[in-house]
Amino acid sequence: MKKIKKILFILCSFALMSCGVKCETCHDKHEIKCTRCNGVGIANCISCGGIGSQMCYACGGTGNVMQMDYVTGGMRYTMCYQCGGLGRRNCLSCGGAGRTTCTTCHGSKKIPCPDCEQE
Ligand SMILES: [Zn+2]
Ligand SMILES: [Zn+2]
Ligand SMILES: [Zn+2]
Ligand SMILES: [Zn+2]
Repeated sequence: MKKIKKILFILCSFALMSCGVKCETCHDKHEIKCTRCNGVGIANCISCGGIGSQMCYACGGTGNVMQMDYVTGGMRYTMCYQCGGLGRRNCLSCGGAGRTTCTTCHGSKKIPCPDCEQE
């Protein structure tokens, strides 16, 4: 009986040792560099993909819209007043900058270590 208890004690001390080993992912800082923005805190805008502009929904990106011609009674194309005929508009999410605060880390540049979360 005494022998078994001793073995159990050794096993326990081994387990405690492995518990004390530093987290390889975060080196016990419990946070790691944000993977989405790579620690910058700013990421490409999701809405426009970093371009800063979006297709104009009013004209479907053509820059022209169909409008009734009251003189002839037929349809004619006129310049889209929403985008000024460009077919593209500034992105509403980033205001045309193409970049926004990283939504994963909210600009803090760091995220909680996924390997320490269970603690
Ligand atoms: Zn960790
Ligand atoms: Zn955008
Ligand atoms: Zn337009
Ligand atoms: Zn981030």
